[in-house]
Amino acid sequence: MSERIPVFKPYIGVDTVKAAVDALDLGWLGMGSYVRDFEAGLGSILGVEGERVVAVNTGTSALHLAMLSLGIGPGDEVITPSFNNIGDFQAIRLAGAEPVFCDIDEETLGIDVEKAEALISARTKAVIGMDYAGIPCRLDALKEMAARHDVKVIHDAAHALGSRLHGRSMAAYGNITVFSFDPVKIITSIDGGALVVETAAQVEALHRYRLLGMDQSARRMYTNERAWTYDVADRGFRYHLANLHASIGLSQLELLGGFIETRRDACRRYASLLAAVEGLKLPATDFTDVAPFIYYVRVGGGRRDDVIRALGEAGVDTGIHWIPGHNFTFLRTCRRGELSVTDRIGREILTLPLHSFMPASTVERVAHALSGAIAQRRAA
Ligand SMILES: *Cc1c(COP(=O)(O)O)cnc(C)c1O
Repeated sequence: MSERIPVFKPYIGVDTVKAAVDALDLGWLGMGSYVRDFEAGLGSILGVEGERVVAVNTGTSALHLAMLSLGIGPGDEVITPSFNNIGDFQAIRLAGAEPVFCDIDEETLGIDVEKAEALISARTKAVIGMDYAGIPCRLDALKEMAARHDVKVIHDAAHALGSRLHGRSMAAYGNITVFSFDPVKIITSIDGGALVVETAAQVEALHRYRLLGMDQSARRMYTNERAWTYDVADRGFRYHLANLHASIGLSQLELLGGFIETRRDACRRYASLLAAVEGLKLPATDFTDVAPFIYYVRVGGGRRDDVIRALGEAGVDTGIHWIPGHNFTFLRTCRRGELSVTDRIGREILTLPLHSFMPASTVERVAHALSGAIAQRRAA
């Protein structure tokens, strides 16, 4: 019996282990010099000019602070695809605002810009674009539409670190761009997140928000020191990133190129092995400029859950990204548009295993098991 194939398999190499040991040896475990270096490394990979990257402890915290940074609060609405991570919905609610659920487009599985426009109300403050699986959503159209209505774009690029659109990085489109480095993302800091913002004033406010509201100088903390006198002028959270986590993120950032390259190869291999399988829909991309986070297929005809079972029996784990948000008890009363594409995709979507440095033979085993599962269903 061959080994089970997990959906996610974080790559932790000797470099990452060494980085973590070095950070522990430094003795300054909280926010410090590694955080500065991680922010600078992200800024450089994203082509961000000036110091406009702020690292925090999770992607969800980054989303919460994105809301506060844009002045979003009680009484406001934020339009989000219902087909999104729970963190986005909770972040909107944490800010005291209300999510409004929008449909997605069939091709990118990102927000349907025309349907989003139809949902804009006098209370709308922002609209969230999210790049499903690492495939950019229609960022130009979204940005143009939002500007016309004077609402902000929060770009949740948690799936898309390293993806590009029209030659530009993912940080080039939103008023605020958000990333996550949780355990399964394309790079991990075990847990972590980051925001890219537009102004130095936003950066300063975020430095206070992430550290209990204290007006500690980040510049000083970046040298592994702190002040004992400070003021607190506003609310704040314990959202800072720790040196240990930043050191791990930094070590992973160095490997990002290889992660992306080998994930792309695996996606292309899946695409060619599965192209002829009847009843499957594959991502509509050749993965040029895509940094793939997950590889998904769509299983039509109400057969997805049988396919999941058959794959499980063949030792292949799968995932579901996601159950659409409007199905959750907590969010049942949220305003929404027509969600027919979301509902259908939510029944069809299936995440196959995708790892950095995934061997071709593993991709082949998954593809073989999937074709077999579908053929078996046909015969039944
Ligand atoms: C992972 C993820 C988040 C949340 O990030 P955490 O670091 O897990 O809090 C938000 N949005 C998307 C699209 C994600 O994939």
